[in-house]
Amino acid sequence: MLELKDVNVYYGAIHAIKGISLEVNQGEIVTLIGANGAGKSTTLRTISGLLKPKTGTITFEGQDIAGIRAHEIVRTGISQVPEGRRIFAEMSVMENLDLGAFTRKDKAGIKADIKHVFELFPRLEERKDQIAGTLSGGEQQMLAMGRALMSRPRLLLLDEPSMGLAPLLIKEIFNIIVDINKAGTTVLLVEQNANMALSIANRAYVLETGRITLAGDAKKLAASEDVRKAYLGG
Ligand code: ATP
Repeated sequence: MLELKDVNVYYGAIHAIKGISLEVNQGEIVTLIGANGAGKSTTLRTISGLLKPKTGTITFEGQDIAGIRAHEIVRTGISQVPEGRRIFAEMSVMENLDLGAFTRKDKAGIKADIKHVFELFPRLEERKDQIAGTLSGGEQQMLAMGRALMSRPRLLLLDEPSMGLAPLLIKEIFNIIVDINKAGTTVLLVEQNANMALSIANRAYVLETGRITLAGDAKKLAASEDVRKAYLGG
């Protein structure tokens, strides 16, 4: 479904992504784990069109998308939930969800999808008129995910959904990620919380200073001594 081949990304003179190749197959949950500054967010932002690779190819469903602008990428069927949520703080929950459907004109479909988002996140329905900036951190994460789903993505990119959340809430968010995947959306998940990410993923890539150093079955990686030592607290 998604394939990156030998992708290099720079911030000015800084070589942040050093020739990475990875793939995500339809129906999978794939996770990209690694320490602070390894390049996880940079990789996601490059896929979603916020950054442009200097060299390499990014193919989504057979189409070359490297260098296409972010709003056009959404139209191809990819939606990103950015790190730190980035909801529209001054707007209501409902207005945020409506904005997530900016690529669409099918009013009935949009209405049905809002209903679906409220089924996934009942707390958002209770707070649909609340100003988004006053939501708790967990609720803002839910809103950011709900907003991303409103474009009906076939591939959902999630950047550290666990960040700053209490353990119980992290569990809840991860259960919902599994539900979203079961309902047919392919997921690429970036996480520092490697334990949680590996527990729901089919496959994983480990990123270290801009390079992929390990890749494979998520359960096997979770059991591997090297990964346990480096990322799972021994
Ligand atoms: P974290 O988990 O801390 O968010 P990450 O794995 O997502 O880390 P990135 O945010 O992708 O890492 O950063 C990769 C490298 O690129 C880091 O060395 C970082 O300092 C650098 N970098 C990120 N954004 C910029 C920027 N806007 N300008 C310059 N360098 C940047």
